[in-house]
Amino acid sequence: MYPARFDYEAPASLEAALSALAERGDEARVLAGGQSLIPMMKPRLATPEALVDINRVEGLDTIDEVDGQLRLGALVRHNAIVQSGLVSRINAVMAAAAPWIADPLVRNLGTIGGSLAHADPEGDWASVMLACRGEVVATSRSGERVIPVSELIVDMFTTSMQPGEILTQVRVPIATRPSGGAYLKLERKVGDYATVGVATRLELDDAGRIADAGIALTSVGPTNIQATAAEEALVGQEPGDDMFAAAAELAVQASNPHSDVRGPAEYKRQVVRAYVRRGLARSYEMARQSASAA
Ligand SMILES: Cc1cc2nc3c(=O)[nH]c(=O)nc-3n(C[C@H](O)[C@H](O)[C@H](O)COP(=O)(O)OP(=O)(O)OC[C@H]3O[C@@H](n4cnc5c(N)ncnc54)[C@H](O)[C@@H]3O)c2cc1C
Repeated sequence: MYPARFDYEAPASLEAALSALAERGDEARVLAGGQSLIPMMKPRLATPEALVDINRVEGLDTIDEVDGQLRLGALVRHNAIVQSGLVSRINAVMAAAAPWIADPLVRNLGTIGGSLAHADPEGDWASVMLACRGEVVATSRSGERVIPVSELIVDMFTTSMQPGEILTQVRVPIATRPSGGAYLKLERKVGDYATVGVATRLELDDAGRIADAGIALTSVGPTNIQATAAEEALVGQEPGDDMFAAAAELAVQASNPHSDVRGPAEYKRQVVRAYVRRGLARSYEMARQSASAA
């Protein structure tokens, strides 16, 4: 099928893109990589009257280290994250997740900003950002708002962004303590969305105890899920397999999978259990090594 008719604008500056969006109000949608929006427009699941293509807007595709944060422009493609030495040096969860996103074609076009704005519970970046305490910058003609990803994702395909706002930047804190992270994803075949995805992150204090923990789940509920009780259970504890197994049980309780073509709900719970435990063990090993290298 072909999409319904729509107007198309491709402004060359952020100001012009914000003006175009403000003028069209609810009728307009931002077009980034088009890897989720266009497939929805073709069968007319989405019928925006206008698209504001932000691909020509300069300065939205950079990856930098600023003020203790990793800052990624909204237009940074999944593949640029795969290839980024800065990301692989600074954030193990992002580096582990990026190669698992879709296939090479989608990774060349799809963007991190588009993925977070789309709020698909099967999307991998929102789990990574929940585990890493990421934030986004939403820019409108009246200024900027910084929104933690935990407050950005409101429901399935629904964010707290307002009409007229463009997601311009993603910010991720850089760990100052020994840290490690992982993203484990079960997929039926290469390029598929997750049957289950699990993001884990651990930071250690000077005594080798867990100072901070992040755990988030993909494809096992109506949104990406931050397993808060599991995270809290780990903080202040001696790392070890019993602790990781207990956290995995709490993460299973936080999940709410449904049976579908990717497998029965109970199978997905088992995968959450195994992957949280395994992801925490991998994160701990990495953190321990970074502590001994320091
Ligand atoms: C075959 C296939 C397999 C895939 N597999 C995976 C996978 O395994 N894991 C995964 O995470 N994703 C997967 N995806 C989705 C892919 O990652 C998309 O790139 C991503 O979800 C959306 O990013 P985009 O830049 O393409 O956004 P678009 O499709 O351009 O936009 C998506 C939505 O976000 C809005 N939007 C986009 N950018 C902004 C912005 N800067 N500010 C405000 N709103 C904005 C748009 O208006 C639209 O509503 C897959 C896609 C395909 C086609």
